Amino acid sequence: MESLIKSENFLENILEKFLVETSGKLPAYIPELSKARPESFAISIVTVEGKILQAGDIKTFFTIQSIAKPLVHGLALETHGREKILNMVGLEPTGDSYNSIRLQPGSHRPYNPMVNAGALALSSLIPGENPELRFHTLQNLFERYIGHVPNFDEQVYQSEKKFGNHNRAMGYLMLNFKVLQGDVEEILDDYCKECSFLVNTTDLALIGATLANGGKNPLTQKQAIDPEYLADILSVMFTCGMYDFAGEWAYKVGIPAKSGVSGGILGVVPGKMGIGVYSPLLDSRGNSVRGIKVFQELAEILQFNIFKSSNLL
Ligand code: GLN
Repeated sequence: MESLIKSENFLENILEKFLVETSGKLPAYIPELSKARPESFAISIVTVEGKILQAGDIKTFFTIQSIAKPLVHGLALETHGREKILNMVGLEPTGDSYNSIRLQPGSHRPYNPMVNAGALALSSLIPGENPELRFHTLQNLFERYIGHVPNFDEQVYQSEKKFGNHNRAMGYLMLNFKVLQGDVEEILDDYCKECSFLVNTTDLALIGATLANGGKNPLTQKQAIDPEYLADILSVMFTCGMYDFAGEWAYKVGIPAKSGVSGGILGVVPGKMGIGVYSPLLDSRGNSVRGIKVFQELAEILQFNIFKSSNLL
């Protein structure tokens, strides 16, 4: 694996191979996201030793969207402890779309922290007495993982808020069942903000490398997340991070991952590296078409499927 990663054109060759793949659609339900350049394509890898490989449009920034969910899950665990979070949000994949309005029968909890309902519930726990303080909490959270304060996309945030009635409905449904408490509009506002920070693929790969490296950012050497909670986050990413594609992903790629509706996918190879891919054309499940192909190719070449762990030794 190491020698492959060292070879000069390793990522360029993969990028080249999938440039011909132009299927998929830009998301229309957040109008601002449909302005992305469909041809944009970038891949980055950051190893736990801090080595960076990148190819393609690495200067293209996109909103983090659902890839914020594992980070906000970690924040909720660190701030409120495992028991409270487990009482609030389940651990089961939905087998349904990321914005499914279904809650778990009986408990009315959201199924898991990686779908919108679960992330909305956990967004109600972001520390800070007012919106500005909670915005700072989010900035600090992202800074710990990517080593700098990310920019914020005001247009995407406004667009998502304006057209966010589906998420809003979910918020009120959970309020009705007392799964979340507080002002739904404020919670939705915080949720839209957490989705609207700007990253590139190298930022994604660095988030992945931090999660792969015991929670310590390999470039800044700062601890981004208490290692006590790493397994909580990575296991839920593994079973739920790719929504209703999670089973096939586990079978074909075999690492914890998280996708976002702006076209990013973050992958974590525990103990080894983080991977970030960006291409905004999405399949019907809201996952990047090229992103999935690139990860399948990388899993073959680098043999990082965690169930083929003999290859990692
Ligand atoms: N902000 C998006 C939404 O709430 C996040 C979904 C995603 O990235 N899959 O719909």
